Amino acid sequence: MCAGPAAELGVTLAVLAESPDAAAAQVVRSAPVGDHADIAAVLDFAAGCDVVTFDHEHVPSEVLAALVAAGAALQPTPAALVFAQDKVAMRTRLTQLGIPCPRWVAATEMDEALAFGELVGWPLMAKAPRGGYDGKGVEIAFGPEELTPWLERGLVLLEELVDFRRELAVLLAHSPSGQAAAWPVVETVQTDGICTQVIAPAPGIDPDLAARATEAGLRIAGELGVTGVLAVEMFDLDGERFVVNELAMRPHNSGHWSMDGAITGQFEQHLRAVLDLPLGSPLPRAPVTVMANILGGDEPELYSAYRHVLARDPELKVHLYGKQVRPGRKIGHVNVSGTDLADLIERAQHAADYIQGVIRE
Ligand code: ADP
Repeated sequence: MCAGPAAELGVTLAVLAESPDAAAAQVVRSAPVGDHADIAAVLDFAAGCDVVTFDHEHVPSEVLAALVAAGAALQPTPAALVFAQDKVAMRTRLTQLGIPCPRWVAATEMDEALAFGELVGWPLMAKAPRGGYDGKGVEIAFGPEELTPWLERGLVLLEELVDFRRELAVLLAHSPSGQAAAWPVVETVQTDGICTQVIAPAPGIDPDLAARATEAGLRIAGELGVTGVLAVEMFDLDGERFVVNELAMRPHNSGHWSMDGAITGQFEQHLRAVLDLPLGSPLPRAPVTVMANILGGDEPELYSAYRHVLARDPELKVHLYGKQVRPGRKIGHVNVSGTDLADLIERAQHAADYIQGVIRE
């Protein structure tokens, strides 16, 4: 998704691809195949780059350290990235900064878990400190026995189960020289732990809540030294208060709407930010934009459904990632902008469902 903006900006993009048919390798000319955990492969790749950035947070610390030692310009730096890689590090730092978070504890012993359960009440949210995504590595624990396997694996992050009204995300970009630009606060809708829809801006959001949430995002970016796009996932507790769920330091699902719905999309902005170029305007192009994720269904062939969707709604923007279809895998998204929220949701979701194959008319 950075390839289009890179071509337009005149920036040469290369990607270290996990396989020759990886989504990015299909559209980026320089796409050597290598494992992001293989120090030699990553160093070799980075030697040809002015700036190195990431499209996921799973690059191991020792690989990052080797890159820094070799003089690679990493954006974001490993010192910032750790707060997107490690949920315990993130909770510790945000709590120090006074950013509202769910009550939490990092536990290694059952005694600690029991004391925390006593304090905040069961059930608890158990999270693997590292390696989770799309709800993997996260589980509701209704009683102590469900925590046993977690504790056996080592350190577990326990959080109170937050009773929230909806999920929000603050998305912004921050550059090494300190410029920042925030998109409007969005609502993210999750189904079975996977983001399925994003509405920009979050419908009916109190302007004061939006301002405080954005301020918190900008403060996190500044204090943690984040460069590039930062997504701050939040829970809206009651329309007035929020707590931060987690951070992502890369273009993020909550920002896909901006590709068509904002003056500057997140992939262009990420490139501008990591290259320390002046940032583009994050202002929306329309009163509302709805993004719906296309998840893989049972039908591996998308072409006929795709033709139908394009013909049915010419205002819709369809983005497909060139990934192999697997049930539940994010394989694309659609964006549609306008003024009538209910109509936009219906059209975006219809298109996503049709391509997925869950509806046939
Ligand atoms: P991942 O890293 O897999 O995205 P998250 O920490 O974002 O994991 O959690 C996935 C989902 O679980 C969230 O989108 C939210 O719906 C729910 N969740 C996470 N933490 C809590 C919590 N403390 N209380 C209630 N629900 C939570």
